[in-house]
Amino acid sequence: MRSPFTTALLAALTTTTIAACGPDERSLDAADGRETTDVVEAADGIEVDEDHDHTDEHLELGALYSDGPTRFARVDLFGSGPRLVPVTVRHGGVYFQGDMLLGREADLHLVDDPAPVAGGKGAKAPPAPGALKSAVAIRTPWPNGEIVFQIDGNAFPAGSAMRNRIDQAIANVNANTMIKLRPKGAADLAFLRITRHPDGVTCSSFLGFAPPPVPMLMQLGPDCSVGNIMHEFGHSAGLYHEQSRADRDQHIRVRFDNIVDDKEAQFQTYLVDGLAGQDVGTFDLGSIMMYGSFTGFENNLAQPAMNKRSCAANDFSAGCVWSGQRNGFSGTDAAGLARQVTGDPIAKFKIRNVAQDRCLRPTGASTAEGAAIEVVACNSAHKSQRWYTWRRPGMARDVVVNEHSRHCLARNAAGTLVQSRCTGVDAAKQFTFQGLGLFRGEQIQQSGGRCVLASANGASVSSSCADTTSREFTRDYL
Ligand SMILES: [Zn+2]
Repeated sequence: MRSPFTTALLAALTTTTIAACGPDERSLDAADGRETTDVVEAADGIEVDEDHDHTDEHLELGALYSDGPTRFARVDLFGSGPRLVPVTVRHGGVYFQGDMLLGREADLHLVDDPAPVAGGKGAKAPPAPGALKSAVAIRTPWPNGEIVFQIDGNAFPAGSAMRNRIDQAIANVNANTMIKLRPKGAADLAFLRITRHPDGVTCSSFLGFAPPPVPMLMQLGPDCSVGNIMHEFGHSAGLYHEQSRADRDQHIRVRFDNIVDDKEAQFQTYLVDGLAGQDVGTFDLGSIMMYGSFTGFENNLAQPAMNKRSCAANDFSAGCVWSGQRNGFSGTDAAGLARQVTGDPIAKFKIRNVAQDRCLRPTGASTAEGAAIEVVACNSAHKSQRWYTWRRPGMARDVVVNEHSRHCLARNAAGTLVQSRCTGVDAAKQFTFQGLGLFRGEQIQQSGGRCVLASANGASVSSSCADTTSREFTRDYL
């Protein structure tokens, strides 16, 4: 909600002087310079926690708190070539969809207000590329799937409530996704610095990875929850918002007629916003990257910005709206993170069982977490039959990732071979391809003397690695 403190906060913030800084400065001007002390104290001094009613995900909608007009930045996100991306600017930082930091205003040379175009209330088209001066390349994934971080100890001293939340979020990411979050060492030049948000309130993170001197910051206000911080780590790894998926209109309805002028870009798909991307898995209202139906950007705050496509446009009953989930990464989130961590490897293969002369895939080409693995006629054209291996830094075995679902092979409690979210730390999801000798295939081994075994009915993880063709596979590279 647009709460009354916003105006006071803005007044406090606008008195701050932003220092100039050179191109080799590692931080946003306002992020950790002396001048920002006043900003943080001013923001903290305002009573904001008493009766505001925004839920967790609203802390990620930074434009609610220090709003500015939509402008355009030229950036090269994820190798798609330079694009003009709608952004807002706050405290020298350029943000996409409220909480994704793209870089510094000083580096991106923004342009204002291209001519409105037909096709939507307030819709805007990007200006001609010649109007721009420079671009910043933002690349993903992070090398080796490791996000190197440094926590600002002045902003978040050990033992403080916020430090505890950051530590909890880091532990959750490390345990439940394939991302490895590692503290910065002396040799690390590129790292995510976790510091206080200069607006004193909202939660945001740099989107993806970029080499120095681009400053990668995660900026957190004192109300950011563990779930908010996990959401921000999703952006650090390169995830967009779930409602930005290219296929979202099949599942939800964005009610542009109820969204305040100039904020349509917050609700466009990454394709409409001019960005490259990929929809991984199936659309997921339970994603930690999904905003709730009510966002605070509504003209009529009694009606949501989004409702389910299966409901009538004006049906806002309980089954037609949702809240933003901030308790943990969903299976879809984990699949998207697996894609971001591994990139899109060239070396993909079918896994052909020698006895059956057929190949492994998730049953029915499912993208669902927990789906059993079946054995079907081999077909290179089907992404569901394509797999690749990835080894998390420090681990002795590989995870085996499905290209279609981006889930990993796993042994469940019953010994069935299934696909499950990739973590890279769970022994039940780690395998070694062990060659059987010249002109032979391989066994797919796990710790404890277990091997993958295929039959006409499906695949399991046997407690034996006896040399039989039911346990012998070939990797047919594509
Ligand atoms: Zn976000």
